[in-house]
This record gives sequence, structure tokens and C-alpha cells, in this order.
Amino acid sequence: MTDTEVLPVLSETGAATLRADAVSAWFGDHKVLDRVSLTMPARQVTALIGPSGCGKSTFLRVLNRMHELIGSASLAGQVLLDGEDIYDRGRRITSARRQIGMVFQKPNPFPAMSLYDNVLAGLKLGGIKSTRAGRDELVEECLTRAGLWKEVRDRLRQPGGALSGGQQQRLCIARSLAVRPRVLLMDEPCSALDPTSTRRIEETIADLSSEVTIVIVTHNMQQAARVSDSCAFFLAEQGTPGVIVEHGPTDAMFSDPQDPRTTDYVNGRF
Ligand code: ADP
Ligand code: MG
Repeated sequence: MTDTEVLPVLSETGAATLRADAVSAWFGDHKVLDRVSLTMPARQVTALIGPSGCGKSTFLRVLNRMHELIGSASLAGQVLLDGEDIYDRGRRITSARRQIGMVFQKPNPFPAMSLYDNVLAGLKLGGIKSTRAGRDELVEECLTRAGLWKEVRDRLRQPGGALSGGQQQRLCIARSLAVRPRVLLMDEPCSALDPTSTRRIEETIADLSSEVTIVIVTHNMQQAARVSDSCAFFLAEQGTPGVIVEHGPTDAMFSDPQDPRTTDYVNGRF
């Protein structure tokens, strides 16, 4: 198999549209998001931009039910995955987390575990049962889709922690894909990486976007312009909770922003 061939691991489930409806979030008494509504369409890349501290990471954690794991955290509003409320009573938190994967700024593979076993852990979490040969093929597919296969095919038994930072991040993407997510949330996935690794991950995002809905937080405006179809600008002004000031097609946001605060931000005047 070459790096361009595609096995069907992702298409079995299919990308879903994720919609946040009037999401507010608190840590204790501190309100950090105020009635944020945003549709993140299936098979598109949505970029979340905005200054530090405006609630972008919190918003991502609300989208896959990680927010509720933080002791002081509370929440209002709805998150709908293809129309179904992921917070519905009776819906299990693990189901949301399987369908909505997350990649973090700091690559976090299981460092002592082999590359193969890192991906296998994702396959197990996704409930994929397979023969040994089938597993090998799925591990290969996930690593291929993450753009890592060619580099690691001869060292699958090495520990995840032995890879470079950029490779570790792609391993994390492979592990997330192995769970067969319908949405992939990426919180500044390239912030800790060099330009070459960043380009590889951007290529991976472009390749995946036809099958997985992608939501990416980035502080890099060029990156937002390169990878995303639409863009949402978050802002928390003077101690007020984060809101979306403006959202829309990325081209329009960068070439013709409607709000003066967006103009300032996308032109680096913040
Ligand atoms: P961003 O990702 O846009 O930088 P965050 O979502 O990390 O913003 O943070 C939004 C606000 O929530 C900040 O004021 C931050 O201090 C606060 N915050 C984030 N995580 C926690 C936490 N675990 N406990 C308490 N406050 C938090
Ligand atoms: Mg953040």
C-alpha cells in the first residue's frame, strides 16, 4: 500500500455536523463562555481564532464532554451531533468521546508504549475487533492517514516517546483516527512544532477533511487561512466571558471582516 491509498476505516462511520447552541460555561463562579452558538458542518474544517484566555480550549472541551470532568466546571446550552444532543440523559460520556476525538497542543502519545500499541489502544477504544492481520492493516491505515507510515513502517515496535515532536503529534492523530471519530477537535496542534512538521499536519488535515469534521484552534492566521473553510473569532473583553464576535467563510473573514475587532485581530493588532 502506498501513502495515498485509502482503506475504509473512517468512512464506515462518516463525518457528522456538530452544532453548539447557546453554550455557556463556568469554572465555579467564573463565567468563561456566554451563549456561544456555532455550526461546524460535516466534511469541513472550522478554525477557531482569538486571543489567549477567550475560551477556545474550554469550548473544545465542551464539544466532547471533557469540560464536565473538571471539578469546578458547569455548563448550559446544547451540543448536537447530527442533531442528537450529546449531553442527553442516558447518553454515555464515552460515546461522545469516541465519536468526537481530540488532539492537544502538546503531543501526548503513551511514551513507553510502542507505536503499534499506541494505535492499537485507539482501535480498542473504538471497539474495533479484528484478526491479527486485520489489526496490522488498520494500524497501517491509521498511520498512513496521519502521514506517518512511510517514516515508521520499519520501527513500529519503538516506543512512542522516541519519535520527534512532529512525529509524536502525527502518532496522536493516528491514535485518534483509530477510534473512528466523526469529528476531530484539534487544540493548537502545531504550536509546539517546527515548520516542516506543521506543513505535514496541514496536509493531513486537508486529506482527512473529506471524511471527518475538523475543528482546529490556531493562533496562526496563515494557517487558519490555509486549512479552514470557515472561521469563528472568539473574544473575551475586559473580564467578560468569551463570545463569538464574528464567524463565516474564511476567505470573507480575512478579506472583508465585518467587525472592527476582527479586522484588528486578523491583522495582528491585538
Ligand atoms: P483559550 O484556550 O482561548 O486560551 P481557555 O479556554 O483556556 O482559553 O480559558 C478561558 C478562561 O477559563 C480563562 O480565564 C482561564 O483562566 C479559565 N480556565 C481555563 N481552564 C480552567 C480550569 N481548569 N479551571 C479554572 N479556570 C480555567
Ligand atoms: Mg487554549
